[in-house]
Amino acid sequence: MAEHTDGDEIADLLATTPTGGFLGGKWVEDGDRFTVDDPSTGLPLVDVVDNPPERFLEALDIADRTRESLAATTTHQRAEVLRRTYELIVRDSERLATLCTLEMGKPLAESRAEVAYAADFFRWFAGEALRVDGGYRPNPSGTGRILTLQRPVGPCLLITPWNFPIAMGARKIAPALAAGCPSIVKPSELTPLTMLALAALMEEAGAPAGSLSVLPTLDAAATTGPIIADRRLRKLSFTGSTAVGKQLIAQSAEQVLRVSMELGGSAPFVVFDDADLDAAVEGAMAAKMRNGGEACTSANRFLVHESVAEEFTARLTERMAGLSVGRGLDEGVEVGPLIDERAQVRLRDAVADVAAAGAEVNTGGAPLDRPGWFFAPTVVSGIPASHPFGDDELFGPVAPIRTFTDDEQAIAMANDTPYGLIAYAYTRDLERALRVCDRLESGMVGINRGVISNAAAPFGGVKHSGVGREGGFAGIHEYLETTYVGLP
Ligand code: NAD
Repeated sequence: MAEHTDGDEIADLLATTPTGGFLGGKWVEDGDRFTVDDPSTGLPLVDVVDNPPERFLEALDIADRTRESLAATTTHQRAEVLRRTYELIVRDSERLATLCTLEMGKPLAESRAEVAYAADFFRWFAGEALRVDGGYRPNPSGTGRILTLQRPVGPCLLITPWNFPIAMGARKIAPALAAGCPSIVKPSELTPLTMLALAALMEEAGAPAGSLSVLPTLDAAATTGPIIADRRLRKLSFTGSTAVGKQLIAQSAEQVLRVSMELGGSAPFVVFDDADLDAAVEGAMAAKMRNGGEACTSANRFLVHESVAEEFTARLTERMAGLSVGRGLDEGVEVGPLIDERAQVRLRDAVADVAAAGAEVNTGGAPLDRPGWFFAPTVVSGIPASHPFGDDELFGPVAPIRTFTDDEQAIAMANDTPYGLIAYAYTRDLERALRVCDRLESGMVGINRGVISNAAAPFGGVKHSGVGREGGFAGIHEYLETTYVGLP
């Protein structure tokens, strides 16, 4: 298979990518360093500064000092920085996409799509910055008037995961700046490079001094704990696992912090008996294999009507078995590696366990015998009803198929989970689709579509999948407080 990018190009890219901390507008290079690895080889890429707890407190000092001046900038000024950032991301999209693939492993085409998605949040919130409004109306009793104002919440801590190294940060940084809030970003220790490159672009775009810090660290709890406990921090926005999200909600209680939580999911993908099977298989591939299955929105449980289950399983198995797995930078690759060895072992053991319980592994089922953390695209069917396979996020290229007999059972199975991020349903019956939408306990629903993420739409979950919405008209309100002014 042809290599898309040669070694010299990669060395140049890494040599010109910032590896320090971005502290309120200046780069800091001193201190210990940690290694960022390439998941497609398991080998080190580059060393990044391990920013210590004191530096996070310094970032909070800066954010607190900047709070008022940033809130006082005009929305035109902030919209200009956001718009310019959008343009710079587009200008550097190939460089950013390559970095994203290097540190996270996904195929280059998917990294390009992620970079475009990230850029879109800057474009969208450049518009939304201008549209923050208030309200004015008479008190219904006639005894006065009600004025409402929207004001920036204040310094924000933004914690992001490794699976979308740039988009998950963009989805928070852009609305925070649009609202007039200074941000401290803690990217995942597994993928800090793309976020550091974004910080450099925001610096170039003229982000106001003090409005942004990006601080990679190996010790997330020790560095973020003290600033979460500090009353100058006013907002925590987190994207990551439900387990860590719950801990952070508990920690946030001390200062009664505003929180946004974008947590894990266990998306059901329901195929009704009247579904267009061509479209359903296509949608299943997108919903399962986008990001190699390492997405909170990944279809985690295929629920298929018994009358079409055999055909759906055969067609999905054929498509999954035909995927080209390899290094994300190589041409033609459709599936990259998992993020690390832990993820590979977890998936291997989960598939072995369900197979031992009597399930059929239709294709795949094991790590690939090569360096890097690769796992064969896998389909599992005939899962015993009581087996918990797919109850929690599989977070990899593994598709479990279960069957149902009627709509009631399908809805009950889809909702039988503590999670509620996204659900997918395939049917040609509009009324059935609407009925099902009404009853799915999910923040988002895809009808006859396998991918629905969009900067202009509200993204978020219910139940253990989180609190709050990112993107759309709702996204900026996560960073605004309402003040009510009583008037005579
Ligand atoms: P994770 O919870 O392990 O880590 C997420 C971030 O939190 C990382 O930056 C990590 O360093 C940090 N962190 C870990 N422990 C912490 C602590 N005690 N205090 C403060 N910060 C801490 O998640 P991950 O493995 O990086 O990401 C995968 C998870 O993210 C999956 O569960 C996935 O579903 C979820 N996710 C959700 C969405 C969404 O929008 N709902 C989007 C992408 C990923």
